[in-house]
Amino acid sequence: MILSGSYAQEQENGRPLGHTNQNKFRQMKDLLATPNESRTASGAPGYAYTQQKVDYIMDIRLDEVNNQIFGEEKITYHNNSKDHLEYLWVQLDQNMRAKNSKTPDINTEIFNAAFNGPQSFTSSNLKDRFDGGFNIEYVKNDDGSNLSHTINQTMMRINLPKPLAPDAEFKFQIKWWYNINDINVDGGRSGLETFPDGNNNYTIAQFYPRLCVYDNVEGWQNMQFWGRSEFALEFGDFEVKITVPADHILEATGDLQNPKDVLTKEQQKRFNEAKKSFQDPVFIVTQEEAEQAEKGRTTKTKTWHFKANQVRDFAFASSRKYIWDAMAVNINGREVMAISLYPKEGNPLWEEHSTRVVANTLEEYSKLTFDYPYSKAVSVHSERQGMEYPMICFNHGRPNPDGTYDERTKRGMIGVITHEVGHNFFPMIVNSDERQWTWMDEGLNSFVETLAELDYDPNFFTGNLPKDIVPYMGGDQSYISPIMSHGDYVHQFGPNAYTKPAAGLYMLRQTIMGPELFDYAFRTYSQRWMFKHPTPADFFRTMEDASAMDLDWFWRGWFYTTDYTDIGVKEVKQYYLTDKPTEKAMKLAELYNMNLDAFKDKLVYYAEAENGIVPSDAKKVEDFAFLKAYLESLSDQERSKLLKAPKHFYQVTYEKPGGLVMPIIVELTYEDGTKERKMYPAQIWRYNENEVTKVYKTNKAITSIVIDPDLETADVDTSNNSWPKKIEESEFDKFKDKVRG
Ligand SMILES: [Zn+2]
Repeated sequence: MILSGSYAQEQENGRPLGHTNQNKFRQMKDLLATPNESRTASGAPGYAYTQQKVDYIMDIRLDEVNNQIFGEEKITYHNNSKDHLEYLWVQLDQNMRAKNSKTPDINTEIFNAAFNGPQSFTSSNLKDRFDGGFNIEYVKNDDGSNLSHTINQTMMRINLPKPLAPDAEFKFQIKWWYNINDINVDGGRSGLETFPDGNNNYTIAQFYPRLCVYDNVEGWQNMQFWGRSEFALEFGDFEVKITVPADHILEATGDLQNPKDVLTKEQQKRFNEAKKSFQDPVFIVTQEEAEQAEKGRTTKTKTWHFKANQVRDFAFASSRKYIWDAMAVNINGREVMAISLYPKEGNPLWEEHSTRVVANTLEEYSKLTFDYPYSKAVSVHSERQGMEYPMICFNHGRPNPDGTYDERTKRGMIGVITHEVGHNFFPMIVNSDERQWTWMDEGLNSFVETLAELDYDPNFFTGNLPKDIVPYMGGDQSYISPIMSHGDYVHQFGPNAYTKPAAGLYMLRQTIMGPELFDYAFRTYSQRWMFKHPTPADFFRTMEDASAMDLDWFWRGWFYTTDYTDIGVKEVKQYYLTDKPTEKAMKLAELYNMNLDAFKDKLVYYAEAENGIVPSDAKKVEDFAFLKAYLESLSDQERSKLLKAPKHFYQVTYEKPGGLVMPIIVELTYEDGTKERKMYPAQIWRYNENEVTKVYKTNKAITSIVIDPDLETADVDTSNNSWPKKIEESEFDKFKDKVRG
């Protein structure tokens, strides 16, 4: 092969081609797992893909007097893999609250005299630890014999009597109970809140021993639960009976099987009305009725019976304080219920917004992913929580005691409901491994949440746009980790796992790929991995596979490093028409022996401006003696065409102090006030990562050049984004002006 001219040119610039093997556009072969028959190179599940299935039948009892929960659980484990399993791993999440839990031990402590006065020191630091761990009463085989098991903190290994063969199933039973934690005292994603009237709001989750995921990526995903990084769970079918005080209202994952046993005739009638109401929520329990109920205390119980198929988890909420409303949502011709439960303390905010936000979320997410496949989504009021489970989630947003609330509370409530209902899609259905890759559910979900919120209210402050991540990305590098980090081990968890991936996806959609290519690829990913277990590589690969865009540079920079964007205008050289050719121009004219043909290349017409922009006048072209003859040789048409040729040339040097490669978005403003946008793909940096030049030919003088005028690329330093340099008035200058003025 003969090397082409471009090679010579690159050599001349001192940048041999070989550099491209090490540059920021190199493919991610070194970072991604080798594709195989389970996970293809296109990012889809392969023909040999399998996943385990775990079915649960549970009897649960809530003891309101002692705040304890009891359960008997029958588990059927289906081994769909081709492997023989010697043991099963079960998650005991509540053991994070056990007296001997190591979770508090891994937190560093500092004695702070200002905060740890005698009072707070005795009340919190010296207080007995709350004992909220699991009490396992038995683990039994299907035949009633005891099963050998070993508990290691939040994980329990069930030692199988003989290895479980491929395609075989194993049935076993666990009986357990634990003390329910008060969320306001001990924190938690599950627990109770006690109101001044003595009533409790129970929002109960990860309350039963749950099987770990077994797959060909991790083997058993049995990383301990330290309290932050969430869960990895298999899909299965649930049949759950929950016994609670008879005056409680209860909602849970799944479809209620016995409405006649637990609802009044009036409540059933109202619920059927709600199923036909697509505009407004219908009350099933009104505030008046809820206020009446919260005054009573029955000792009788009722058992609520739910079934849910193809869910990865089960949660419920129960209280006698609940107001209950619901409306129908049309998901591509199918009716889905949007439902809310909240005490009077949530009003008037909750009756105005909760169920409507649930409905909007299901509609918006369905557009961007797949039709919401479950029958309902429930939003339950809680003072502090924001936590998601299949078909049900717990959300904060409480007005002041007099019912007033500020914009921030309202915005926070709309935001958290959208986010938690959105988690039905990621990770409840697109079932990624939360324990290891927080961004795969939180990042993707926060991104779709942003689009849904902007749909609910175009002026909504989402906090997830590229400009919102600038303070984090431009901050102290010793407190920043790549997105591709385990959630338990990063500083600034929120920006790392929520905002940065969300802002990155927003940037991909709006700026780098465009909505058409992005949406198709994102929907492809969602549908490929619906009810399956995707890994990061499956996401990265699908987004490229479905769009014909090589995005390895983006994943590599945004997800695997802590580099940031910073692009600036380094230098602007101006060239203009003149009637007094510069010395250089005269020399060139001489060199070409005033060969008029050479002027077609405009080598001589343009002189470099020394001071600012010198407006040119097309008529002056005719004053050139040597041009005159040339112009006279042209036809009228040819001449007028020539005179319309660009009169200004600008050579602009863009610099990139930031480590990330990014598209350069440029806004040119002309002397007549008109503006023009240009966008150069990130690949413009492929030969030289530090600076690149572009030339603009124009009839009108350029008065300013601004990079990334709409703050689309998370550029951390905008002080170099403008030419001429914008003098930004300092706060002190503004202050001085005020004093003077
Ligand atoms: Zn979340």
